[in-house]
Amino acid sequence: MPASSIKKSFIFPERQIIEDPLNATHTLNCHNQVLLIYTGGTIGMGRNPASGALEPLDFKSLVANMPEFDAIPVRVDVHQFAAPIDSSDMNPQLWAQIATIIADHFDRYDGFVILHGTDTMAFTASALSYMLQNLTKPVILTGSQLPIGQLRTDGRENLITSIEIAAAHHPDGKPMVPEVCIYFSGRLLRGNRATKMNADGFNAFDSFNYPHLADAGVSIVYHEEHILHPDYSKSLQVYTTMDTNVMVFTLFPGIQQSLVHSIVNIPQLRSIVMRTYGSGNAPTLPWLMTMLHEATERGVNIVNISQCAAGTVEMARYDTGFQLKSAGVISGYDSTVESAVAKLMHLQGRYDDPQQIRALMNQSLCGELTLPL
Ligand code: ASP
Repeated sequence: MPASSIKKSFIFPERQIIEDPLNATHTLNCHNQVLLIYTGGTIGMGRNPASGALEPLDFKSLVANMPEFDAIPVRVDVHQFAAPIDSSDMNPQLWAQIATIIADHFDRYDGFVILHGTDTMAFTASALSYMLQNLTKPVILTGSQLPIGQLRTDGRENLITSIEIAAAHHPDGKPMVPEVCIYFSGRLLRGNRATKMNADGFNAFDSFNYPHLADAGVSIVYHEEHILHPDYSKSLQVYTTMDTNVMVFTLFPGIQQSLVHSIVNIPQLRSIVMRTYGSGNAPTLPWLMTMLHEATERGVNIVNISQCAAGTVEMARYDTGFQLKSAGVISGYDSTVESAVAKLMHLQGRYDDPQQIRALMNQSLCGELTLPL
């Protein structure tokens, strides 16, 4: 695991209050301070001359390709992972490292921007939303589809707008977006609601079951009714322990008994995210229901998440869903897979009792799911 280290500071030219004339509901000023945590990802990659493949570069190379960085009216300090990574190598230890950096610098900054590869950004955003509870400041993850050194890069806009959002506040000083978010291609999304949905287009992310928190066009329009309102009297609680005994499996026509048997009987397995059909349905195979029932009886939490990107699990809608409920499977409602995995790891890190975890899976901890009315 690369230790994070190099710390540099960029202080931008003194400018007094900058008000966006098109959106006077938020302000930026030169006293705003943002901590940029650079973990790697395409945004800072360059071509390896030998192989031709993209590989992560350090932050110096990233800003060398971006002179407009100097014009941002916000003081930005940078914390770089010692070895920037492709986000395919992200893991719970590194999530804990990011959460700890934020916690250690929490009082000193107005907001945080995390530069991260797109591939696992939705997992990291979800994990941070559970690790950083009672969060009262913006934590904005962003990256890009093309390296910042390429002519048509999307990285500049993503980075500059993320810094602006991380620093933006109401006239009374409260931040505009005090939650973990992903900003990408004009959309500000709740982090634990976002999914990477496009490997090529600049619009790489969306949140299919929750409205955007803001849309950035000529001006940044914040949708305040969808943004969390934290209790500012509470202090930040940081939970960095994750128990990764979680498995994701997807149902498909023809799924084999022996394979499901191996999965549900993995020693130490504490939970399964089961990706079902439509509104949470599964084939009516007696052996499948028996195996799932035996597993839930042993204390394995099985969470039902739909294979559909949009919509929610309703296990009472069809018989094929109701049988799962009878087998002790719990609803993941409209959660993303990324959010359900991270939430299970977090709850397993905090609690031994499967019943306690079950109860909390049925609650929204930080806006990650919509409970039925
Ligand atoms: N493989 C890259 C990563 O996730 C892709 C990206 O950044 O867009 O680090």
